[in-house]
Amino acid sequence: MTPPPSPPPAQTPGLPQDDAWHPPADVPRRRGLAIALAALLAAMVLLIIMAGATLYDQARTASQPNGDDAAFYSYRLVSQVNGLVSAANRAAGGADTRDFTQRLQALSTFVNPGTAESAAGLALLRAIPAADHDLIGLDDQLRTWHDTAEMRDPVHIRQAAVEVSDRAEELRAVADRIANTVQLEQSTITHGNRAQLAQGFRNLEWTLAGLIAGTVILAIWLLVLNRHARHFNQRMAQANARLESAVAHRTRQLVWLANTDPLTGLKNRRAFMETAEAQILQCRRYPHPLAALLIDIDHFKSINDRYGHHVGDQAIRRVTDTITNTLRDSDIIGRFGGEEFAALMPHTDLPAALVAAERLRQAVAGMKIGLLEGGPLSMTISIGLALHEPGLSLDTLLMRADMALYRAKSGSRNRVEIYGREREEVAQQQ
Ligand code: GH3
Ligand code: MG
Ligand code: MG
Repeated sequence: MTPPPSPPPAQTPGLPQDDAWHPPADVPRRRGLAIALAALLAAMVLLIIMAGATLYDQARTASQPNGDDAAFYSYRLVSQVNGLVSAANRAAGGADTRDFTQRLQALSTFVNPGTAESAAGLALLRAIPAADHDLIGLDDQLRTWHDTAEMRDPVHIRQAAVEVSDRAEELRAVADRIANTVQLEQSTITHGNRAQLAQGFRNLEWTLAGLIAGTVILAIWLLVLNRHARHFNQRMAQANARLESAVAHRTRQLVWLANTDPLTGLKNRRAFMETAEAQILQCRRYPHPLAALLIDIDHFKSINDRYGHHVGDQAIRRVTDTITNTLRDSDIIGRFGGEEFAALMPHTDLPAALVAAERLRQAVAGMKIGLLEGGPLSMTISIGLALHEPGLSLDTLLMRADMALYRAKSGSRNRVEIYGREREEVAQQQ
């Protein structure tokens, strides 16, 4: 006989209170953190732009024509002036004047603004007021001698040479002054460039430090986010597992409730019919004897009336216990309603079924239910027995058992009746 399924735990329907699933709280929107992250990223972008600007500045300064061109120009100027003075000295002493005129021509061209060879250095030189002043003076003076030399008159040329020779010191002094001025200016520019470069590198250091700090903060941030995500995933997985277990538990409860009679824990009529139908199909496929019992408590109404429903319920439970203890584990037992039960006994022929039914009837008749008031309560049952035959439906089988039960009730009750035969007849066959 199949033992009644165990009833659900005490805290039946409803999810268990302790490990009930709580939906994870809404992830708070961390507006402050988002703003801080945006500010950090903006600061890092700003630092990168600043670093780029600093590098660009330094590169531009390095690539611009600087004091070197002016210095080179001024050194050449000094050298050309010296050359001119030497040639003038020689021409004034009676030597050939051609060298003098050539050098004069070259120097004039060199000093004259706009000539291709000296343009870059000259432009820088002109930016230095003191040098510019000297240069203009030198240019004017050279132009006078040049114009004289251009007359191609040897006398005038020699006269110009003498004049240059006489003013050699003054010319050299002007050229030296220009060179010195340029050198001074150049060192100022170089100093300024160095200071600017140093400042640029300091800026770059700060920028780099800022970028490193930002990167470290971002890395830490990512680690924290990663931890949060892992933690959140874990909680979700746990919540999911708890939910699945709660659903499975609840489903088991619902299946139990749908199939079980709550008073006795036996199969209810629906579950009994379902299991019994399966047994009938089994019997059709692999023919074997199959007996059905319909069991009804005699005069149960009077028990209710005399002792109350509570005692009636107790009586029903005691009869249930007796039925389940008397029949086999492989038998299918159900409460059909009220004080009526059904049992289907596979692999049980008529004589065996009769023996089992009789044993059950006697067991119930021998039962004593203790009462608070009055003597112990005893009761009897009537049983209708029918045997399955090939091609017989479950409904017909139960109807036959019911007819047998009706006959038992019509007689003296507390007896077993077999459908279609007199029980004595069967007893005699045994
Ligand atoms: P008979 O011998 O002809 O079977 O008479 P009976 O009184 O047993 O039959 P009847 O059908 O007249 O009465 C059955 C009673 O069982 C009526 C109903 O109130 C009672 N009953 C049905 N279900 C329950 C239940 O779950 N608990 C209790 N205490 N009584 C129930
Ligand atoms: Mg009854
Ligand atoms: Mg009844």
